[in-house]
Amino acid sequence: MEDFRDVFDFIDGNRDLYLSWLYDACRIPSVSAQNTGIGEMAGFLEGFFRERLGTEAEILQSGGYPFVTAGVEGDVPRTILFYNHYDVQPVDPIDEWESDPFEPVERDGRIYARGAADNKGSMFARLCAVHAWRGTRGSLPLGVKFFYEGEEEIGSPNLGIATEKYPSKISCDAMLWEGGSRDIGGALHVALGVKGLAYFELRLRTANQDQHSSLAPIIPNAAWRMVRALSTIKDEDDKILIDGFYDDVRETGPEDKFFLNNMTFQEEDTKKFAGIDGFLGGVSGYELKERLLYWPTANIAGFVSGYGGPGSKTILPAEAVVKMDFRLVPDMSGERVYDLLRRHLESRGFGDIEVEMLSTKPPYRTNPDDPFVRTVIDCARDVYGVYPAVYRNMAGTTGMYDFCTAVGAPAVLVGVFNEDSRLHAPNENIFVEDYILGIKMVAAVMGRYALQGRDSG
Ligand SMILES: [Zn+2]
Repeated sequence: MEDFRDVFDFIDGNRDLYLSWLYDACRIPSVSAQNTGIGEMAGFLEGFFRERLGTEAEILQSGGYPFVTAGVEGDVPRTILFYNHYDVQPVDPIDEWESDPFEPVERDGRIYARGAADNKGSMFARLCAVHAWRGTRGSLPLGVKFFYEGEEEIGSPNLGIATEKYPSKISCDAMLWEGGSRDIGGALHVALGVKGLAYFELRLRTANQDQHSSLAPIIPNAAWRMVRALSTIKDEDDKILIDGFYDDVRETGPEDKFFLNNMTFQEEDTKKFAGIDGFLGGVSGYELKERLLYWPTANIAGFVSGYGGPGSKTILPAEAVVKMDFRLVPDMSGERVYDLLRRHLESRGFGDIEVEMLSTKPPYRTNPDDPFVRTVIDCARDVYGVYPAVYRNMAGTTGMYDFCTAVGAPAVLVGVFNEDSRLHAPNENIFVEDYILGIKMVAAVMGRYALQGRDSG
């Protein structure tokens, strides 16, 4: 990393400034699910590009909340694209926050704020890296493009449309996608893809309205009926019992195994953060990593029925609503899981349960042999001083598939989370140190990938 010493020094010298930019961004409550602060955040970014990076951003419309894009030319004809989102999750339950979610504070080396991790931290790490190159060398080693959406946390409903509508805004040679973590042991996570997702709402009504619970012997109870239906979906060993569910799951090949074997996973820390004694099924080591990254899931995300308030209320619920998310692995599709789930419920005598697919995203994996992947891994090793944990795909999901397939360039996920960043939850946080290292990481990737372009060109 000797080559970039001056850039790194510049980053250290501007530490407070770079932190203040992140703080400013986190103060804006850009909650897409509640339509607050979206216009303000887009405007803030527009101003940031103009005042801090000397370039005009473009606000692109495609039906929903706007996309914010910008670009800066570089010394070599090679372009890296940074995908991020400027929206955040709602803050509920607000009582569990130890400080105001929209007033960032530093405690014990961590910045607490909604969006600090997901994903204004990684967004600003990239902006600061570009600023640092400019500030040090006067120009960028390669071209950069920024592509920001404001609807990631509500399922990226217009990302596919935007990619089709604005091809020139997304064309590039490589992409850094948002979001990625760092072990407590210090290793950066470099992820080469994501699982897909299919999100369903299951709805059941067994009477016109809630009934007096004395009628329980003669009137059906929606909660019980839903519980019985759900219990047919998964067995006690967590095997999903939907007929045909595993048919499209691609077999784990030697390359996939190689990634798992070489990937570290902090089991003890994960247990500690979650407050559990052991993992499901008592698994550990390779098997645990395989389950986490290569297995599809059927998760009950929420169950609403009857009375859940204080004290007692003797009613018999007439309705039950369940939210389920299924994480998908190659080559599964949400549409197919939807068909299978409906057929499953019908064949088990639960045809009265309505199933609606609220959203879906296919899984995505980038080509692990692309030289850009090597560059990112090398930079992670040098910046963090520890060989990174390389994930064939993350356990989570983003809208990578449509975007990355349309662009046709390699995409890698790296970011500034830690394993206790509490994404989507109260007390979301990142380590100050991870933010600063994240800026250096992006700066290094820009420098190295530009050099590689020069060598190969
Ligand atoms: Zn998120």
